[in-house]
Amino acid sequence: MGRLGKWLLGLAVVVGIVVATLAAFQGSIAVALMRGVVERNMAADPIGALEDGLHVGLCGAGAPLPDPSRGGPCAVVIAKRGDAARVFAVDAGSAGVRTMAQMQVPPGSIDSVLLTHFHSDHIDGLGELAMQRWVNRMATSPLPVHGPQGVERVVNGFNEAYAQDFVYRTEHHGADIVPPSGAGLVSAAYETPVDGTDTVVIDEDGLRILAFNVDHTPVAPAVGYRIDFDGRSIVVSGDTVKSANLIRAAQGADLLLHEALSPTLVDVLTQAAQAAGLSNIERITRDILDYHTYPVQAAEAAQEAGVSLLVFHHIVPALPLSALEGVFTEGVADAYDGPTVVAADGDFWSLPTGSDEISYSDRL
Ligand SMILES: [Zn+2]
Ligand SMILES: [Zn+2]
Repeated sequence: MGRLGKWLLGLAVVVGIVVATLAAFQGSIAVALMRGVVERNMAADPIGALEDGLHVGLCGAGAPLPDPSRGGPCAVVIAKRGDAARVFAVDAGSAGVRTMAQMQVPPGSIDSVLLTHFHSDHIDGLGELAMQRWVNRMATSPLPVHGPQGVERVVNGFNEAYAQDFVYRTEHHGADIVPPSGAGLVSAAYETPVDGTDTVVIDEDGLRILAFNVDHTPVAPAVGYRIDFDGRSIVVSGDTVKSANLIRAAQGADLLLHEALSPTLVDVLTQAAQAAGLSNIERITRDILDYHTYPVQAAEAAQEAGVSLLVFHHIVPALPLSALEGVFTEGVADAYDGPTVVAADGDFWSLPTGSDEISYSDRL
């Protein structure tokens, strides 16, 4: 063996020892990293760190179809002034509560839920949200769920399904840690609004939340929400076709979160279902065209309402490639003068009090 060969052999031995040592300690290194992250997260006060104003984040920007970037419909809205913050979830799609926690919005911070309608994909995370809030906050009263008439059935059903879980958790940890009075949900039903007249859901201390009627036929009731706080405003469309009543309620809002479905891309699903002989899927992909809003129609609504920022959410179908976003938004720029965003989970906007600014951050 020449000098170079011996040198290479020596190097290989050293590298081997280093790799073996790292392998032996990789568990300890991982635990140390985990300890740092957990300690930082548990000590943090992410809501307290927000500036005064209105904030909205997407804990689920998708619909029932699986999308790697978008869970079931879920938004968090935070109204912050000084030390006081009021935190709401608008709809509670599946995985929403886990995404929320990853976005530095602790489930224990949620004060109440605002439901837009009772389609399963908008409510199927409610049980998990109630449980996480209960145990994280040591809540002494159930999570209020605001919704039009019919919300009582949803709440009663979840409470019944979770009744045994409530008992287990209090028995295991003690009533002082998980007070039985804080388990589950309580309905806060309001009068279903009609076109032209909004229902006041909350109006206290500068925060006003209005529910307005939308058209998601045959699903009724179906509402959207307008949230005004200290001069800033956010509108959430709920599920609807293009709605004149939404355009009325959204006049001059800072940010419009509007559902959107691309007929061009849904047609790709329809054709694939047809080719595969899946007549049931073909029927469903044709049916969903008639009770959602196309991106260009949402852009027209944003233009007619004069909103400052249009965010497409409740994205249908899934957009697994970012290049599909261009297809999704085809024609939008001709219909709306302002900026648009095709939302994904983790998107977060802050609307500071006393300014027109809308700042963006990615919280995932
Ligand atoms: Zn729906
Ligand atoms: Zn929906």
